[in-house]
Amino acid sequence: MKVIETVAGMRECRRQTAEPVGFVPTMGYLHEGHVSLVKRAKEENASVVVSIFVNPTQFGPKEDFKNYPRNTNRDLAMLEPFSDVVFMPSDVEMYPDKYNTWVEVNGLTGQLEGASRPGHFRGVSTVVTKLFNIVQPTKVYFGQKDAQQLLVIKKMTADLNINLEVVACPTMREPDGLAMSSRNTYLTPEQRKGAPVLYKALSLARDKWSKGEKDAEKIRLEMNKLIRKEPLAEIVYISIADALTLQEFSHLMQKPALVSMAVKFGKTRLIDNIILE
Ligand code: AMP
Repeated sequence: MKVIETVAGMRECRRQTAEPVGFVPTMGYLHEGHVSLVKRAKEENASVVVSIFVNPTQFGPKEDFKNYPRNTNRDLAMLEPFSDVVFMPSDVEMYPDKYNTWVEVNGLTGQLEGASRPGHFRGVSTVVTKLFNIVQPTKVYFGQKDAQQLLVIKKMTADLNINLEVVACPTMREPDGLAMSSRNTYLTPEQRKGAPVLYKALSLARDKWSKGEKDAEKIRLEMNKLIRKEPLAEIVYISIADALTLQEFSHLMQKPALVSMAVKFGKTRLIDNIILE
């Protein structure tokens, strides 16, 4: 497995990697959720590139960029069996002095995560475009865990005619339902005990929907009630929206619905979602 730290080095290496190339962008501190994407990329491609880059431009000024968990040696050991190349640029390599170009996807970025994290998706679309240009992959792998990010990347790729296929991969969970996330490491033992309430609320929504409940507001209220029983949880948003446009539903229709939420435990902000279809 080659570890490459410069754009020039990645370009040089890319001339020798076998096609098709599967690419998995990550911010590191890897867990089985990330590894499931990398394994899928390995199954479907002749070579696999993984990037590890904690992208400063997608964090707000009061967010956890400085404290975001990092463990390069552990990450590299986890990737060794599945990845051919790891691209690990520094901040200045990606954003040199006077860097001044941004990619913005309108329409899908003002709500949900975009509403509570202004500028987040601008940072994500910009870094992902840069990574796509540097790595030149055939297929790219993203987790359904970040459902809005996945929609934004698909839209951006289509709108900008970026020549690759975006593959959506299912959310990996802990045995108690908590979606795996690098940020779970921030949780105190007490908060960790309460954190499965996100998946419990999503399961409640699925249950109501499968029994024929069509009133989206009623389901949101029931989810809200369930989460409020967990004293350490603070709801940021609960949404039941069109899974393609992210417009909030008042009633569940024949179209697929994205049920999603952000919930804070202390300073730690957790997100999760399911799709009803
Ligand atoms: P991150 O390192 O958080 O930027 O995530 C890198 C990629 O891994 C993104 O496409 C995420 O959606 C995906 N991912 C994160 N957590 C999970 C999970 N629990 N299951 C599946 N994919 C995940």
